[in-house]
Amino acid sequence: MSENDPKVDWVYKFYDSSSFRLRLETNLKLPDATGFNLYANTTGFGCLRCKTVHPLQPCDNCGSEQFILGLAQNGSVGIFCFRCQQGFTNYTCVKCGAKNPITHETILEQKTEKSGCFIATAVYGSVYANEVIYLSSFRDNVLKNYFLGKKFINLYYKISPFLASTIVKHSKLKTAVRIFLIKPIIRLIQYFKI
Ligand SMILES: [Zn+2]
Ligand SMILES: [Zn+2]
Repeated sequence: MSENDPKVDWVYKFYDSSSFRLRLETNLKLPDATGFNLYANTTGFGCLRCKTVHPLQPCDNCGSEQFILGLAQNGSVGIFCFRCQQGFTNYTCVKCGAKNPITHETILEQKTEKSGCFIATAVYGSVYANEVIYLSSFRDNVLKNYFLGKKFINLYYKISPFLASTIVKHSKLKTAVRIFLIKPIIRLIQYFKI
């Protein structure tokens, strides 16, 4: 997939405003932000007026491709460079000039097979369930930073499509996975504030 390929499919990253708020809540305010990461080129901005999508460009200031969704010190929602913390709280569409806020309706991501968590999605029936958001946020912000975490993610993606397809077919299994696996994991993450 090339960076500005017009054929790339974009999907809303935050399906509704409650998922968006949850993403913000799991973050810390700048300058201590370690929160939810967004990456140049795989993140896009959808213009509310003309509906075109423009990929997030690397930081003007330092060239970093990693950004954080978070709150500026004045409390407004913004996207900040991971390295130099320069950020913006709205963006101007390069096509029509409309000034767009940073909301669940303007942040999109390139559609990929790996964007959800297969098992939690099978159990909760949606990639936008709060539990799925917690787990994918944990994967993207914590596990990916560690060698063993990356090994685990690779293994997980090999076995979980099979497990997920089995879980979908059995409602008792779905309930069991929810109670004995997913809920305890989320409680652990919340307890340790990982
Ligand atoms: Zn920067
Ligand atoms: Zn526009």
